[in-house]
Amino acid sequence: MTTFTEYLWFTTRKRREYVRITDQVAEALRKSGVREGMVLVSAMHITAGVYVNDNENGLIQDIDEWLEHLAPADPRYRHHQTGEDNGDAHLKSMLVHHEVIVPITDGKLDLGPWQEIFYAEFDGQRRKRVILKVMGE
Ligand code: ZN
Repeated sequence: MTTFTEYLWFTTRKRREYVRITDQVAEALRKSGVREGMVLVSAMHITAGVYVNDNENGLIQDIDEWLEHLAPADPRYRHHQTGEDNGDAHLKSMLVHHEVIVPITDGKLDLGPWQEIFYAEFDGQRRKRVILKVMGE
Protein backbone atom coordinates (compact mmCIF):
# COMPACT_ATOMS: atom_id res chain seq x y z
CA MET A 1 0.00 0.00 0.00
CA THR A 2 1.19 3.52 -0.81
CA THR A 3 0.61 6.53 1.41
CA PHE A 4 1.19 10.13 0.41
CA THR A 5 0.84 13.14 2.70
CA GLU A 6 0.46 16.79 1.82
CA TYR A 7 -0.60 19.90 3.75
CA LEU A 8 -2.70 22.76 2.40
CA TRP A 9 -2.24 26.13 4.13
CA PHE A 10 -4.88 28.83 4.43
CA THR A 11 -4.96 32.38 5.69
CA THR A 12 -8.48 33.56 4.90
CA ARG A 13 -9.25 37.26 4.49
CA LYS A 14 -12.52 36.97 6.41
CA ARG A 15 -13.16 35.32 9.75
CA ARG A 16 -15.60 32.86 8.11
CA GLU A 17 -14.88 31.56 4.65
CA TYR A 18 -15.64 28.49 2.52
CA VAL A 19 -12.79 27.53 0.19
CA ARG A 20 -13.20 24.99 -2.64
CA ILE A 21 -10.21 22.62 -2.50
CA THR A 22 -11.25 19.84 -4.92
CA ASP A 23 -8.46 20.73 -7.40
CA GLN A 24 -5.74 20.73 -4.71
CA VAL A 25 -6.91 17.30 -3.48
CA ALA A 26 -6.94 15.98 -7.08
CA GLU A 27 -3.41 17.34 -7.56
CA ALA A 28 -2.18 15.55 -4.40
CA LEU A 29 -3.80 12.37 -5.69
CA ARG A 30 -2.01 12.79 -9.05
CA LYS A 31 1.35 13.19 -7.27
CA SER A 32 0.71 10.10 -5.12
CA GLY A 33 0.27 7.82 -8.13
CA VAL A 34 -2.48 5.94 -6.27
CA ARG A 35 -5.06 4.36 -8.62
CA GLU A 36 -7.40 2.63 -6.12
CA GLY A 37 -7.94 3.69 -2.53
CA MET A 38 -9.09 6.72 -0.61
CA VAL A 39 -7.96 10.15 0.47
CA LEU A 40 -8.51 11.60 3.92
CA VAL A 41 -9.00 15.37 3.94
CA SER A 42 -8.86 16.67 7.51
CA ALA A 43 -8.75 20.15 9.04
CA MET A 44 -6.02 20.26 11.71
CA HIS A 45 -7.91 22.75 13.85
CA ILE A 46 -10.81 22.88 16.29
CA THR A 47 -12.37 25.96 14.68
CA ALA A 48 -12.48 24.80 11.05
CA GLY A 49 -13.97 21.93 9.07
CA VAL A 50 -14.03 20.03 5.80
CA TYR A 51 -17.20 19.07 3.96
CA VAL A 52 -18.47 17.84 0.59
CA ASN A 53 -21.29 19.68 -1.13
CA ASP A 54 -22.30 21.81 -4.12
CA ASN A 55 -20.13 24.73 -5.25
CA GLU A 56 -23.06 27.12 -5.62
CA ASN A 57 -22.88 30.63 -4.17
CA GLY A 58 -26.49 30.72 -2.91
CA LEU A 59 -26.08 27.40 -1.15
CA ILE A 60 -22.77 28.46 0.43
CA GLN A 61 -24.53 31.54 1.81
CA ASP A 62 -27.41 29.32 3.02
CA ILE A 63 -24.93 27.02 4.80
CA ASP A 64 -23.25 30.02 6.42
CA GLU A 65 -26.58 31.45 7.65
CA TRP A 66 -27.72 28.02 8.88
CA LEU A 67 -24.50 27.57 10.89
CA GLU A 68 -24.81 31.10 12.28
CA HIS A 69 -28.41 30.32 13.27
CA LEU A 70 -27.42 27.08 15.06
CA ALA A 71 -24.19 28.40 16.61
CA PRO A 72 -24.40 32.20 16.65
CA ALA A 73 -21.52 34.49 17.54
CA ASP A 74 -22.33 35.35 21.15
CA PRO A 75 -20.18 36.92 23.90
CA ARG A 76 -21.86 34.74 26.57
CA TYR A 77 -20.17 31.40 25.75
CA ARG A 78 -18.45 29.85 28.79
CA HIS A 79 -15.42 29.28 26.56
CA HIS A 80 -14.93 33.07 26.53
CA GLN A 81 -14.25 33.07 30.28
CA THR A 82 -10.82 31.67 29.33
CA GLY A 83 -10.10 34.84 27.34
CA GLU A 84 -11.12 33.30 23.98
CA ASP A 85 -13.68 34.85 21.67
CA ASN A 86 -14.35 31.98 19.27
CA GLY A 87 -16.93 29.79 21.03
CA ASP A 88 -19.18 29.88 17.98
CA ALA A 89 -16.31 28.71 15.72
CA HIS A 90 -15.80 25.55 17.84
CA LEU A 91 -19.52 24.74 17.62
CA LYS A 92 -19.70 25.43 13.87
CA SER A 93 -16.71 23.10 13.40
CA MET A 94 -18.59 20.32 15.16
CA LEU A 95 -21.65 20.84 12.95
CA VAL A 96 -19.78 20.37 9.65
CA HIS A 97 -17.20 17.93 11.15
CA HIS A 98 -13.47 18.18 10.63
CA GLU A 99 -12.81 15.61 7.90
CA VAL A 100 -14.04 13.69 4.90
CA ILE A 101 -12.87 10.54 3.12
CA VAL A 102 -13.15 10.55 -0.68
CA PRO A 103 -12.93 7.35 -2.73
CA ILE A 104 -10.30 6.98 -5.47
CA THR A 105 -11.20 4.88 -8.50
CA ASP A 106 -9.03 4.45 -11.58
CA GLY A 107 -6.70 7.25 -10.42
CA LYS A 108 -9.46 9.86 -10.00
CA LEU A 109 -11.47 11.28 -7.10
CA ASP A 110 -14.71 9.31 -7.37
CA LEU A 111 -17.07 12.16 -6.50
CA GLY A 112 -20.72 12.45 -7.56
CA PRO A 113 -21.63 14.96 -10.29
CA TRP A 114 -22.10 17.98 -8.00
CA GLN A 115 -19.82 17.01 -5.15
CA GLU A 116 -16.97 19.39 -4.36
CA ILE A 117 -14.62 19.40 -1.37
CA PHE A 118 -14.56 22.52 0.81
CA TYR A 119 -12.42 23.85 3.62
CA ALA A 120 -14.72 25.69 6.04
CA GLU A 121 -13.00 28.38 8.09
CA PHE A 122 -14.80 29.69 11.19
CA ASP A 123 -12.01 31.64 12.89
CA GLY A 124 -9.67 32.70 10.13
CA GLN A 125 -7.33 35.57 9.29
CA ARG A 126 -4.43 33.46 10.58
CA ARG A 127 -2.39 30.56 9.20
CA LYS A 128 -4.18 27.22 9.37
CA ARG A 129 -3.89 23.93 7.54
CA VAL A 130 -5.51 20.79 6.23
CA ILE A 131 -3.83 17.40 5.97
CA LEU A 132 -4.32 15.28 2.85
CA LYS A 133 -3.50 11.59 3.34
CA VAL A 134 -3.79 9.51 0.19
CA MET A 135 -3.87 5.76 0.82
CA GLY A 136 -4.12 2.90 -1.63
CA GLU A 137 -2.24 1.27 -4.49
ZN1 ZN B 1 -11.37 28.68 21.32
